[in-house]
Amino acid sequence: MRRARLLGIIATLLMVVAAPAWAERAPDLVLTGEVTHADHQTWREVPFRVPAGVERLTLSFEHDGAAQKSVIDLGLADPQRFRGWSGGNKSQVVLAAAEATPSYLPGPVVPGRWRLLLGVPNLRPGAVAHYTARIWFDRAGEIALGAPPVRAGPGWYRGDLHLHTAHSDGSCKSKRGRAVPCPVFLTLEAARARGLDFVAITDHNTVSQAESLRELAPYYDDLLILAGRELTTFQGHANIIGTSADFEFRLGSKAAPDLGRLLARVPEEAIVSINHPGAPSGELCMGCGWTAPIDPRIAAVEVVNGANLALTHSPEGALSGLPFWTARLEAGARLTGIGGSDNHDPTAGGLRSLGAPATVVHARELSAAAVLEAIRAGHVFVDVWGSPDGLLEITARAGEARAEMGDVLPAAAGQAVEVEAHVAGAPAGARLVASGPDAELLAQREVAVAAGESRTAFSFTANGTSRWLRLDLRGADGRLLLIGNPVYLRP
Ligand SMILES: [Zn+2]
Ligand SMILES: [Zn+2]
Repeated sequence: MRRARLLGIIATLLMVVAAPAWAERAPDLVLTGEVTHADHQTWREVPFRVPAGVERLTLSFEHDGAAQKSVIDLGLADPQRFRGWSGGNKSQVVLAAAEATPSYLPGPVVPGRWRLLLGVPNLRPGAVAHYTARIWFDRAGEIALGAPPVRAGPGWYRGDLHLHTAHSDGSCKSKRGRAVPCPVFLTLEAARARGLDFVAITDHNTVSQAESLRELAPYYDDLLILAGRELTTFQGHANIIGTSADFEFRLGSKAAPDLGRLLARVPEEAIVSINHPGAPSGELCMGCGWTAPIDPRIAAVEVVNGANLALTHSPEGALSGLPFWTARLEAGARLTGIGGSDNHDPTAGGLRSLGAPATVVHARELSAAAVLEAIRAGHVFVDVWGSPDGLLEITARAGEARAEMGDVLPAAAGQAVEVEAHVAGAPAGARLVASGPDAELLAQREVAVAAGESRTAFSFTANGTSRWLRLDLRGADGRLLLIGNPVYLRP
């Protein structure tokens, strides 16, 4: 959310944070050559051609002369200017309009004759070093998801999908106590302190934060950083997470007359998620509520927004996104419920903390591709208050078929459906509460759970018109703690 002044933010540069697909795609160009003692302490240029339409250039450079103490330094020049020099300290370089590997200057990847700039500080008599430069070109709309996982293996991973920094209206206190645009590293620090596994930095309509992240990400290598932005229109806000595409956001203008055309450019792998749909629209919060149509490209909805939570102290208060979500589910949509803190100050505590709420996903590994897949699949629960250890794992079985949250479970009329809930981090007096049309079929809609970790089973008989069932964890006082995604039943 945030306020009328933000709606005027004009983005000029939109590129991503995620690393390019090193391993998954053959390079577009391979340049090879050899350097001998004749090149000792000289400079060399290796030309190559960049085609039109490239938004990101990725270069990997290696040589085989290390054993003989051969050194080949690296730099780059585009057709017009010097683009940077990394000497012998970087073997992988990314250049794009809004971001570049430190040592290099961001800017358009102009077509034409580029040059590798090679320097040879040392090459012994008789030695030969063979170098290989591999170059990848990414074009508009391509997604960059091939980065190695931050953590291997399946698990429940916890993150915050809605964060603002100095690159939009994020603000915090300077060393002298003044309110200043809040530098990106503080958001990453706060995410780590909170024990999060992933973050999406979603500044309004821009991804200029990518330049800072390009420098910071190698240092914060235990945190998955997803490319993101908050598409901020006069008809609602939506996060687009995981893409390098350059998006028009001026919905209603000639450039983007309708949402369908705007979202048609979003790559399939990326997630579009409606933000704070329960926020008001009008002068109170211009453009904050969702008044645009529901487009099939939308995969998720922010059912808990941290800024609203801090205002109302309840995920079910006046600004809740839950009624919007439930209405879409009632209408037959499969839409993943997620949460986002909408944090604008990573140094803030209490209900304004980063990570409250957290979105917890069951992913095959901690990588951008896997986390986005898990969100799309609905393998997600929302930890409303951002606890460190809350777990809500639902498994439903009908005959041989098995489903987790977000999945479809085939269940014919008369078939027994067993639902098991695995809960952790439950306070004393907590209970599981079922909702959705199929909750009517349960003998008990509410079941008390033991404090800490426990497993609870429900069962019912499918009636041939079964649709969906959700389970939430509530505290002894009725407060929502963990919000589950639906299991969708189909006869
Ligand atoms: Zn926001
Ligand atoms: Zn917003």
